[in-house]
Amino acid sequence: MLANDSVIVINAGSSSIKFSMYSGAALDLTMRGKIENLYSGVAHFIAQDAADSVVGERHWRDGPLDHEGGMRFLIDFAQTHLDGHRVVAVGHRIVHGGVAHSRPQLLDAAVLDELQKLIPLAPLHLPHNLAPVRSVLAMAPHVPQIGCFDTAFHVGQPAAAQEFALPSNITDLGVRRYGFHGLSYEYIASVLPQAEPGLAHARVVAAHLGNGASMCAMDAGRSMASTMGFTAVDGLPMGTRCGALDPGVVLYLMQELGMDVAAVQKLMYQQSGLLGVSGISSDMRTLEQSDDPRARKAIDLMVYRIGRELGSLAAALGGLDALVFSGGIGENSVALRAAVCRDAAWLGVQLDADANAANPRGIARISKADSKVAVWVVPANEELMIARHALEVVEAA
Ligand code: ADP
Repeated sequence: MLANDSVIVINAGSSSIKFSMYSGAALDLTMRGKIENLYSGVAHFIAQDAADSVVGERHWRDGPLDHEGGMRFLIDFAQTHLDGHRVVAVGHRIVHGGVAHSRPQLLDAAVLDELQKLIPLAPLHLPHNLAPVRSVLAMAPHVPQIGCFDTAFHVGQPAAAQEFALPSNITDLGVRRYGFHGLSYEYIASVLPQAEPGLAHARVVAAHLGNGASMCAMDAGRSMASTMGFTAVDGLPMGTRCGALDPGVVLYLMQELGMDVAAVQKLMYQQSGLLGVSGISSDMRTLEQSDDPRARKAIDLMVYRIGRELGSLAAALGGLDALVFSGGIGENSVALRAAVCRDAAWLGVQLDADANAANPRGIARISKADSKVAVWVVPANEELMIARHALEVVEAA
């Protein structure tokens, strides 16, 4: 890897394409940007260099932009703004790899066809993850593309953590717990031992708390259990997703309230969680600033459910050595971390209130020196994890 060799990371969602460029052997972040508001309203592109200076910006006021149009623009932009950088790989965040795709791999037309078959397992995300791969394949076929799967980190979980208590003919169809946010947890597992070598073999529960939220139990850096399951709607309440729900509720909604599949899906994915409970917002910052008791109730419910899941995941590990907060809420909400740690005192968690209130930027320990369970904040960095994987795959090829 030469100094100007670069890896581009693409993270495409339903209405946005985020990208980052990492350069040189140390994979320094050299550019990042995003196109937002795809398919609706005025699409907006912005790119910034490592010093946060804006190096490109554009609005699409003359009609909606789709993924393909967005990718065409990004590839053109990359070609004119690479500034001497040579793209050696493009890494993609892909939400679902099923059972078969348990590690990062080169993407070609045949692999894409295989991944296409997994769309029923992640219909809201996977098509958007795959669209940019097809665009790059068509427009820049010589550039190696690497798929990095959010499910891969969890593939080695014990069978009991993966299986539902359903008849085997249903389980055999792939109806099992997969777990998500794997790239975030893998990153946490990779950096935690650098910060505190004793944690390399520890029992760790990490909480990735962003708009999507989940928790993962890791033993010596390996995933043992996670709160997200067959889909990314299970587990914790999230910005707009309900999290774990008695499946009987779904039957009630359909049988008694006459809701159809689309209405139930919308309720569970877009109208629940912090937004649904508060009736105000899905955004933790807005709720924390609100005096409305419904905002308090939504936050309290999230804290309660994190506490319940923490107990469950600690049980899966047979004990707990460290608790990690990550994601927009985990990295920034002093109050939520304090509340979760207060409720986890029974596990031996003792927060250092000053270290927590200092709201550290970067990887930091926020528990008291004699806390039985160490508490850490680790800023999420799935993109860097993808860049590392992409580089490893092209270098091994
Ligand atoms: P995504 O899952 O979309 O990547 P993020 O990881 O950026 O989302 O997390 C978004 C969440 O983080 C929002 O609920 C937002 O309110 C919350 N958040 C960001 N900054 C703060 C802050 N200073 N205090 C509390 N919550 C915050």
